[in-house]
Amino acid sequence: ESITELLDRLCAIVPDYPQPGISFKDLTPVFADPTGLRRLVDELLAPFAGQFDIVAGLEARGFVLAAAAAYASGTGMLTIRKAGKLPREVYRDEYTLEYGSGCLEIHRDEVAPGTRVLILDDVLATGGTVGSAVRLIEKTGAVVAGIGVVLELDGLDGRGRLGEHQVVSLQVVH
Ligand code: IMP
Repeated sequence: ESITELLDRLCAIVPDYPQPGISFKDLTPVFADPTGLRRLVDELLAPFAGQFDIVAGLEARGFVLAAAAAYASGTGMLTIRKAGKLPREVYRDEYTLEYGSGCLEIHRDEVAPGTRVLILDDVLATGGTVGSAVRLIEKTGAVVAGIGVVLELDGLDGRGRLGEHQVVSLQVVH
């Protein structure tokens, strides 16, 4: 079974969630499948083999992927969290979303300058969230090695907001 067949079979589409008109892609059934999470992680890591030193996950679904990817690749994991959750000194980045705004934080001292960071998240939509993570990583002096997402929503130009960074998505969906 190809990765796109696996996603077609297991990804749940929830109409009008979290608000009317939005078709929410729910990957939790893929995470719950005995081989689903392993397939996602293997496919996300392969294009970046040898190119990163640590994996960053975006709260909360990105944590699932990044923790498994860090384990599988024998690296560590950086947690990029919503504002107010990290207990020590942070860098903060505020960004605008389609509806409203968001704010992410990273600990200031968790990653050494020059460290190559692979960013993982579940879904790339407008690119606002991953773009914020890129700025946070760059504030620490670390380097973004690449961006891996399971699903890329088409027509929102998320990639366009991420500049020159290499973006790998396992499936483009509408
Ligand atoms: P963006 O910032 O517009 O690119 O939205 C991406 C963020 O919103 C990611 O952290 C996703 O987890 C979340 N997101 C947006 N749309 C969906 C969806 O259809 N399913 C799951 N998460 C989504």
